[in-house]
Amino acid sequence: MLPVEKKCIFCGEKPVDKNKEHVLPKWLLELSGDPKRVVNQGIDWKTGSNRFFSADQFVFPACSGCNSFYADYLESDAKRIIEKLTKHEPVSCADYKILLDWFDKVRIGLWLGFRYLNKNHLGIKPNFHIDQRLGTKDRLLVCYPYNKDDRGITYIGTDSPFFSVMPSTLGIRINNLIFINVSADYLVSSRLGFPYPKISEIKKADNNMFSIGDFRKKNSITAIPPLIGKSQSDTFSVKQLA
Ligand SMILES: [Zn+2]
Repeated sequence: MLPVEKKCIFCGEKPVDKNKEHVLPKWLLELSGDPKRVVNQGIDWKTGSNRFFSADQFVFPACSGCNSFYADYLESDAKRIIEKLTKHEPVSCADYKILLDWFDKVRIGLWLGFRYLNKNHLGIKPNFHIDQRLGTKDRLLVCYPYNKDDRGITYIGTDSPFFSVMPSTLGIRINNLIFINVSADYLVSSRLGFPYPKISEIKKADNNMFSIGDFRKKNSITAIPPLIGKSQSDTFSVKQLA
């Protein structure tokens, strides 16, 4: 097992002028109830029991500068957008770009946060933190109404072994909305007319290196749902090579 090093949740370096970043921002905790409410924070994998503590105590080390940068860059806009969505009001295309960045931040923050809480029991060494992963992949955000008059936040699958090794998909309920956020290479490229690789391989003989090639481009949008390709010509599948 690798030790849980105290690195900044944003830049991944030793925190400069260290302070604590809320994995879920304070404004979101206030929007969804009492920030000091005691909530289920996933399973303690060492004991197998549910872990409960105050919602505003789920914090992670961060540089003071990194924390301020993201607070200025994302949080006030994200608050405005989420509030609008919970009132079923329209938001702009520019707002969705901000929201996708914010979901990258929250998704990676929860991944690092749960790894930290579980004392890295799976021995994962992160290749990225929030800085390196924000806005770098194809992204998808689906929003469903949750027809219950029930304020609160529910994580979906965030403390599962799958999320621990591949934090590409996040499900989260915020008050009356359920969000499904996905981020992965070439997730929607082929159907939006952007270049995408036809060949993708994990080369066992080459130290399990991931290799892609034979790029194609359709130059047109495939308007028929689903947005993520399902036919053979659209599928971005990974072959395991001997
Ligand atoms: Zn930092």
